[in-house]
Amino acid sequence: MRRKLAAGNWKMNGTTEALQELSALQATHSDPNVDILICPPATLIAAAAQTCQGGPVMIGGQDSHEKSDGAHTGDISAAMLRDAGAKAVILGHSERRAGHHETSEDVRAKARTAQAAGLMTVICLGESLGQREATNTLDIIGAQLSLSVPDSSTGENLVVAYEPIWAIGSGMTPTADQIGEVHDFIRTRLESRFGPGVGRSVRLLYGGSVKPDNAAEIFSISNVDGALVGGASLTNADFSPIIEALEKA
Ligand code: PEP
Repeated sequence: MRRKLAAGNWKMNGTTEALQELSALQATHSDPNVDILICPPATLIAAAAQTCQGGPVMIGGQDSHEKSDGAHTGDISAAMLRDAGAKAVILGHSERRAGHHETSEDVRAKARTAQAAGLMTVICLGESLGQREATNTLDIIGAQLSLSVPDSSTGENLVVAYEPIWAIGSGMTPTADQIGEVHDFIRTRLESRFGPGVGRSVRLLYGGSVKPDNAAEIFSISNVDGALVGGASLTNADFSPIIEALEKA
């Protein structure tokens, strides 16, 4: 039985006053069957972890370096995230793949280091609209999955997020059949690579314009164990109904 997971990616949004949203989130939810993860900007991680200490909300980072330390100006290591109170890290988000030229091999190296440091890794995969129209989406996702996920992965330290690039921040979402097809495919691939035990225990999130009004439908799709949410995770008012839909799913 996989625990459900509602994950929020705040991206480059939020200063100290945004911690109020976390306090409100903490006060609203306590369903033991649903994990909640918020990934604020790096500047807020320590304070966010403090705010959420002892409560149901886990804090995570949005990226970490493949090396454990060294001369990498502006970067952050997995151990630093842990030290600041993070329990997880998002890796391979399409905005980092596009804006920072991260390849799937880079993502795998980062994930290996992050898992060794004790972080749960949320590895993102997704096709562009051009790729969906021109090629077989499952080929794209299959290649990203096998190259991005390290052999050190387990049901505890790996979460896979399917995030079609064209659905992120656009208000467009794939049909339920399209989401189900990709999630079933990822599950099958994980089972054949890691065996049924691990393959069935890895949680699969859908991400891309998840909102309070479409969350229940998305959570009813096979092999969708939760969501990775961008814009609608920034406020308790928007994120709470999504978490409630997951609690009821
Ligand atoms: C994301 O960037 O991971 C994301 C899913 O964003 P949004 O929910 O805003 O589409």
